[in-house]
Amino acid sequence: KLEAELRQALDRQEFRLEYQPIVALKSGHVTGFEALLRWEHPEYGLARPDVFLEVATELGLMTRIGEWSLQEAAKQLKLWQAEFPMIRPLTVSVNFSLSHLANADLAALVNEVLLATGIDPPSLKIEITESDVMQDPEAVTSVLKQIESQKVQTCLDDFGTGYSSLSYLQQLPITFLKIDQSFIRRLGADDDALAIVKTIVVLAHQLGRQVIAEGVETTEQLTTLRLLGCEYGQGYLFAKPLPYAEVSAFLASGRHW
Ligand code: C2E
Ligand code: CA
Ligand code: CA
Repeated sequence: KLEAELRQALDRQEFRLEYQPIVALKSGHVTGFEALLRWEHPEYGLARPDVFLEVATELGLMTRIGEWSLQEAAKQLKLWQAEFPMIRPLTVSVNFSLSHLANADLAALVNEVLLATGIDPPSLKIEITESDVMQDPEAVTSVLKQIESQKVQTCLDDFGTGYSSLSYLQQLPITFLKIDQSFIRRLGADDDALAIVKTIVVLAHQLGRQVIAEGVETTEQLTTLRLLGCEYGQGYLFAKPLPYAEVSAFLASGRHW
């Protein structure tokens, strides 16, 4: 039943994106959003990706869903940039899975979306998880290189959980490392987590990359991340993922941390 419904969900326009703010830790201001996929099921309500992403992948739907997400997120970003020209940069990050990268010409899609919306390429970020990268490092590297040559930024998601080899890390055309929330959650509770986060920040900086901490939930975690020189943070402390209709009010509030 889930399979049949999922196959129709795109045509029935049941997918939504929610947008979670990303905060620049130095200034404390919002600099962008991560677009997160939701499925508005007619009977069961809003479903998060853990419920349907695996099935959607098995059904080969991720290429079309990824295409839709990128178009939708870029279109929204264009509107918010026009509404809030004083907030600069204002970026949007879109998640891509390996099945999409493997099946479609992502670089061509990115180019198409940039042309259609007219957004400035660096205001778009593509996220791919470390474990997806490691499943097929050569193929992913070549796609990321094409994306980088279009001046679009790239993020290595869930970093620390996907067994990257350090030699790949050096070669990958990646602008940002996103430290997985499992490490941030343990900050403050456990000295090993602090050592790991500190080491990831230093490693990223040595390789010329910037760092985004995911899953920031407490002011103590925020303080630690600032002390460590982590550039960006994302998590419930700042905001949960917001429906698109709430983003303007959120930006207008000028909230900062
Ligand atoms: P992710 O890319 O690591 O996204 C972050 C997840 O952490 C989101 O879950 C977000 O709601 C949650 N989160 C954010 N801040 C906090 C916090 O402070 N504490 C806790 N406990 N959680 C927090 P979500 O939206 O359920 O997404 C789950 C995963 O599904 C994402 O993990 C991503 O890998 C995948 N995903 C989401 N949207 C898409 C998409 O459009 N395409 C693809 N391929 N994957 C997607
Ligand atoms: Ca992500
Ligand atoms: Ca992540």
